[in-house]
Amino acid sequence: MRSRSTADHTLVRNLNTSLVLEHLRTQAPLSRADISARTGLNPSTVSNAVRYLIARHMVREVGPATSHGGRPGRLLELSPEGGCVVGAEIGVGFVNVVVTNFRAERLWQRRVHVSDQPQHADLSRRAADLVDEALQIGLSQGLQPLGVGLGVPGLVDVAHGELVMSPNLGLANVPFRDLWTARFRRPVFVDNEANAAAWGEYFFGGANAARSLVFLSTGIGLGCGIILNGELFHGHNGFAGEVGHITMVAHGGALCGCGKRGCWETLVTPRAIIQQVKQRIEREVTASTAAQIVTFLEEAGVDGVIETARQGDTVCAAVLERVAFWLGLGIANLVNTFNPERVVLGGALATLGAYLLPAIVRAAREHMLPPLRDTQVVMSTHGADAAVMGAVAMVLADVLHAPVQ
Ligand SMILES: [Zn+2]
Repeated sequence: MRSRSTADHTLVRNLNTSLVLEHLRTQAPLSRADISARTGLNPSTVSNAVRYLIARHMVREVGPATSHGGRPGRLLELSPEGGCVVGAEIGVGFVNVVVTNFRAERLWQRRVHVSDQPQHADLSRRAADLVDEALQIGLSQGLQPLGVGLGVPGLVDVAHGELVMSPNLGLANVPFRDLWTARFRRPVFVDNEANAAAWGEYFFGGANAARSLVFLSTGIGLGCGIILNGELFHGHNGFAGEVGHITMVAHGGALCGCGKRGCWETLVTPRAIIQQVKQRIEREVTASTAAQIVTFLEEAGVDGVIETARQGDTVCAAVLERVAFWLGLGIANLVNTFNPERVVLGGALATLGAYLLPAIVRAAREHMLPPLRDTQVVMSTHGADAAVMGAVAMVLADVLHAPVQ
């Protein structure tokens, strides 16, 4: 009986302390009295939780609160000294690793390019070595590592931290959590990179966080992470969000990597955009001019297509206009399905959105049900680092959920 009551006591302390931390994470600076008023916890419970959190270096006092009579309280916020967190992303052709303090402020970051066709063991080892380097940086600054988060493009068994399949990386059945836990002796969290990015958008959204959002991202493929009522939606097997393979062209669409034709990602990824420009150029201009333009675009990528459209090129502008239509149509389908407060565009969509956002929003609104047309469509706040910062958020969320050891 005693151990049961001790467990219950720890559970209650964790719930209360987690509630205090959550308020400080999203609404700091707050005084103890503010926290008590906002959480409904009694003042002595808040004081005990704050005392524990200050002793653990997770919270610090930052100055006097405005006094309403009586002894003025002190304002509190999360402390950078609560520990360090490593976020990693293994992408197609790159590894991106960041280490932050407890306030998710970046201390160090390394983004390295690797060959598009690396030996698979090399890719995993390269990522692990960078994580090791990041942990050493945190330790050298006196910060205890709280954990490692990893985002990968592919199907992830989140419960076991295993990358089940990633055709784009050429990896399958890699038990990252077991491998990295054995090497680093820290908690490891693995998820699909779009899920990680979606979680980061929610977690770092502060007081303005949308509790339901869709994070849509493109690179080699197209996928999304879905947050519903403050929780990541993984689906039955953990594979929700593979929206790139929604059929958009019922007959005669381009062949997709999945073996079907007309998938959404055959219309809007950077590779698909270059392909569409090439096809139109080859139809519309002389062979020698077409060859020159194609060579230029293959080097310049989507940035080149956008720049060329900005300079008045009608072919590039027409292709991008169609891309905006296809993006808007797909986004409307997601909005009609999930009714999120916000749709966030990341990855290469951030580049495209800088030019196309108004056209994307116009197309999306046309296809949304009227009561859903006020849904926000915005750009990601973390740009190319959305997945690594999301990986950091996965670790922090776990610590904040159960801060009492
Ligand atoms: Zn497909």
